[in-house]
Amino acid sequence: MIPVYHEEPEAILQFQIYELCIFCNNSTDTWHENTNNPVCIGCAKTHKVSDILEDHGQNIRKMKRLGTFERGSSIKADQSNKVNEIQKNLNILQSNKVK
Ligand SMILES: [Zn+2]
Repeated sequence: MIPVYHEEPEAILQFQIYELCIFCNNSTDTWHENTNNPVCIGCAKTHKVSDILEDHGQNIRKMKRLGTFERGSSIKADQSNKVNEIQKNLNILQSNKVK
């Protein structure tokens, strides 16, 4: 299990960016923070942190050490009530994209 966090819904709505999961290449709004990689919930459940090959998280870990790291979203991916809220926002976003 890789611990992943949801991207802030406001940020997604603002920038309309979906990142692609590094394992399955599907668009996702969840992240593994310490390596700064997009990992979807499905792959987070079936992979370990050591499966992540590329590390983009040096700055994040440095900020954590210094105590200056601010999480854009404190929503951990297994908090399902929050997930529903986010899913609602993403549905709105996707329906806007179609237009
Ligand atoms: Zn995936």
